Amino acid sequence: MTDRVWPEVYKKLGIAPIINAQSWVTALGGSIMRPEVLQAMDDAASSFVDVKKLNLAAGEVVALSCGAERGLVTAGCSAAQVLMVAACMTGQSEENAEQLPDTTGMKNEVILFKGQRNRYDKAFVTAGATLVEYGSVDSVTAADLEEAINENTACIAYVIAPFLPQGIGLEETIRVAHEHGVPVIVDAAAEVPPRSNLSKFHKMGADMVAFSGGKGIGGPQSAGVLGGKADLMEAVVMNSLNLDSAIAAIGRPMKVSKETIIGLVTALQLFTDSDEGDEWEGWQSKAEYVSERLKGIPGMRVEIEDDRAKRQGPQPVLYFDNDFSGPSTSEIKALLENGDPGIFVGGGGNKKEINIVMVNVQDGEEIIIAERLNEILRS
Ligand SMILES: *Cc1c(COP(=O)(O)O)cnc(C)c1O
Repeated sequence: MTDRVWPEVYKKLGIAPIINAQSWVTALGGSIMRPEVLQAMDDAASSFVDVKKLNLAAGEVVALSCGAERGLVTAGCSAAQVLMVAACMTGQSEENAEQLPDTTGMKNEVILFKGQRNRYDKAFVTAGATLVEYGSVDSVTAADLEEAINENTACIAYVIAPFLPQGIGLEETIRVAHEHGVPVIVDAAAEVPPRSNLSKFHKMGADMVAFSGGKGIGGPQSAGVLGGKADLMEAVVMNSLNLDSAIAAIGRPMKVSKETIIGLVTALQLFTDSDEGDEWEGWQSKAEYVSERLKGIPGMRVEIEDDRAKRQGPQPVLYFDNDFSGPSTSEIKALLENGDPGIFVGGGGNKKEINIVMVNVQDGEEIIIAERLNEILRS
């Protein structure tokens, strides 16, 4: 039903390509790399290099892009989370780095607002730390945070994501933390674009900030972008064996290949150089196309929403009333996913909405999405 190519490498394994209208989700492949990124990775693959020197040089590009004192390419945002906590616990002591995940003698508590507990936070304890929650999901104050800080506090973690509440806010978190001499580490995996967020949290005073390289930035899916204060980043380097073979480091299972490092810096430079307005326009026009084609379905309302705090780019959101006589949201999702090609959208489940995220919808795919939704919703 489509003239899309089924890449031979996937066909051989019997895996069909799908349309990703669900955002930069890891389970669907993160993002699509630009041809220039693939070319750069291809070039990188043809010779050996000193990988430590390579990542330190790449780290300078990362630092510049983020307005951070130092930067590094990591194996995803999750790996950066592990390394940030490790660095806060070990400081620049090689002995401590050797000893992880045994944290005896080190500050080993990571404080996190209860409302920001999420399925990625295991990475905060992977290096041997203990997670300490503060506040309750619907009530939290600076005093709650203050109470959680003690002499074992290694750092305060803060997570920014559209699906998580912001608690007392990053600014206030940093103020309280620094009053007590405690660093703040930030998981902002999917918070770029906007491009200004690359430096925003550093400007606010966060000690280290991590982003996914394979989401909005469009780099290799297994890459991450980590920037921060020089002393803590020195400790990050020490905890990453990829960069210092003298230490049996906690970061060894999170190595970054030379191709990934080159792919990430290339993608990051293309990302910061490209126009945010054009990118937004592209998503907007796809959203309008789909929204237009879905008008006039009894019991269903289409709204284009683009509130950055809740939505990743302008997107049609479908709302259903009680007099909608078609399938349930989970049935709609299943029909889309099981079609040819499979189409993955957001929402569904308990939520009475379907959202069609455009950030990863390739040119022309909006037509297939609209067609398929019309078949399902008007039948
Ligand atoms: C995607 C995501 C991660 C994991 O990032 P990777 O780059 O896939 O390792 C961590 N935290 C949040 C909030 C995310 O959205």
